[in-house]
Amino acid sequence: MEQVINRYQSPYRTGARKIEVDKKAIKYWGKFVKQTIISASILGAIMACENLPVIANSEIWNKATEFAKTDVNVDQIRNGIEWGVEYAKVLIPEILNNEDVAEQNETVNETIVESVIEEPEIPEVDPTEGMTQEEKDIYNILKSTTILRPVNGEVTSPFGDRIDPVTKQYALHTGTDFLAAVGTQVKSAITGTVIEVKKSNVSLGNHVKVKNADIVTVYAHCSEIKVAEGDKVNQGDIIALSGNTGKTSGPHLHFEVLKDGRYVNPEKVISTTNEAV
Ligand SMILES: [Zn+2]
Repeated sequence: MEQVINRYQSPYRTGARKIEVDKKAIKYWGKFVKQTIISASILGAIMACENLPVIANSEIWNKATEFAKTDVNVDQIRNGIEWGVEYAKVLIPEILNNEDVAEQNETVNETIVESVIEEPEIPEVDPTEGMTQEEKDIYNILKSTTILRPVNGEVTSPFGDRIDPVTKQYALHTGTDFLAAVGTQVKSAITGTVIEVKKSNVSLGNHVKVKNADIVTVYAHCSEIKVAEGDKVNQGDIIALSGNTGKTSGPHLHFEVLKDGRYVNPEKVISTTNEAV
């Protein structure tokens, strides 16, 4: 039993085989490294030829040739690696400082700057450009709010220049006249604040004004006013009863819309989807 163990576990035999294996390994490793270095050097030289013609006939090629011809030992491999590292230390900054590269970088930078400058600025389109003031006012009213028709009666006299039915003089009719029997409920066209309540036997007669921001609405010739100055009203609230007070040729509601103090044709801003009743 003891002999068998000695035969297969002899320290001598094991040691000798181990040394033999190590020698083989070193030999193969050396060959592997040598071939790798040679291949890498040749590859590097080829790359250098293609990309950097200046280096094509210089040190990399010479070194590669040297490696290829020499029976390389470990010292030479080490020296070769050290040379490669040192060469890379010099070569990389040289590449970085290369004028061509610098020029390329400048070109890239210029391209970026140019592309930023040349990028077409999207101009803010003013949709009211070219419009008359009245068209602008109408556009802005429609954009910002809705105007409710204050009564349902038909239009008996539109906004605009006309011969005044009472004075027979040519003048701007500053609102729209809606046919409305005395006592017809008048609804606020907008949500806002009552800024004026006035009783009168001339001109607009009994009238009320409701304001919201830069829009003012006027309800004239009323028989009765249902709100007081300073009241907050909602769109559709009953604020008056129509009548025949002031300068009229018959019972109707005279309705005005003003934008920043400028008269606007009410028929052009009244929401078609809203009905008074
Ligand atoms: Zn009128």
